Amino acid sequence: MLVPTRGRRRQVDTSMHFCPNPDCASRGWVGWGTLRANGHPNGGPWRQRLCVACRRSFLETLGTLLHGKRVSVERIVRVIACLAEGLGIRGTARVFEVDPNTVLQGLGEAAEQLQAFSQHVLHDVEVRQGHLAELFALLSAVKAGEVSEADASERLERSPQWVWVAMDPESKLLLAIDVGNRTRAMAPRFVHHVAQVLAPDCAPLLLTDGFRESLTALLTHYGPWVQPPRRQAPGPAPTPRWMPLPELLYAQVVKTVRHRRLVRVRHRVVFGSLEAVNHVLAPLGWHLNTAFVERINLSIRQQVAAVGRRVSTLCQGEDGLRQQWALYQVYDNFCLPHASLRQPLPQPEPTNGTGSATQWRPWTPAMAAGLTDHVWTLREVLLYRVPPWPQPAGV
Ligand SMILES: [Zn+2]
Repeated sequence: MLVPTRGRRRQVDTSMHFCPNPDCASRGWVGWGTLRANGHPNGGPWRQRLCVACRRSFLETLGTLLHGKRVSVERIVRVIACLAEGLGIRGTARVFEVDPNTVLQGLGEAAEQLQAFSQHVLHDVEVRQGHLAELFALLSAVKAGEVSEADASERLERSPQWVWVAMDPESKLLLAIDVGNRTRAMAPRFVHHVAQVLAPDCAPLLLTDGFRESLTALLTHYGPWVQPPRRQAPGPAPTPRWMPLPELLYAQVVKTVRHRRLVRVRHRVVFGSLEAVNHVLAPLGWHLNTAFVERINLSIRQQVAAVGRRVSTLCQGEDGLRQQWALYQVYDNFCLPHASLRQPLPQPEPTNGTGSATQWRPWTPAMAAGLTDHVWTLREVLLYRVPPWPQPAGV
């Protein structure tokens, strides 16, 4: 860590940047203090950064989607913001009077940046609970009564439009979102994705719906193969057995729907005991009964249905869907304050004008999960230079 001792104090914050030079000793590390702001080359909008370790300079947009773009940054950010707010690709194209393909291309580039950002910030997350659900993107059509649920399901069997969501119900953090078939291959991939986001020693209470494949996928992830000891000295070794981790808690929620109406909700504790499950839920004033189950599904659905409505209007195929969800995941976790998470201010803050004083501080799921300390703007996320490896400081 280099701390400048001479001259006036540095005015420009370079703490979020890293040197991209592969031959530099400080390459890829954020916050080593080796970078200086070097002014705007040719009067351009972006600053140049100078690495004092290797004397190389680079633009502050290097590696982001705004690098080398001739379009104004505000325009790109606003296009992405329109998509994040659910205007859809055609609607956004009309607002900005451009070709829909231009918007689609912009979304593709943004999704790449957002996926890298998600991977960089969502790791070693400590949660007490994780809820996994599969929802389908045609949700809104069913709601409006245009398509019957059976019809929609049949249609979706053929098209890969299931959206898999994992959420921490306490912080409302969306741990993982994926799009695909409701097949055997998809479940392990998704559980693997969730396990990668969580800290290695974190074994949360997991709740899924009654989908059988989730169980198989969980089993392979949360338990070792154990070689039982021999009963007597001679003879063949006994076959290894799979043992679930002793702290693993897993419950399934099985819902029966008839004529688009929920007729029965049953729960089944698969690993652990009902007491242990309720022990995790008790501090929140919850317990594993039908009311609770409806509540968690509601909170996932409230978030996802809104997006389902947005996403289903475009139907750009699996890639387009995945890009929309990548945008939504970051936007929801980092940029959108949730009313249910807001924190009281120690002192009410006066507002401009004649309105009453503000009582609350906005709070995002990422803040509730302790991943960051502020509400991010979309501009900040899009301009964030994602370092090549995890950093000790976080964001
Ligand atoms: Zn350098």
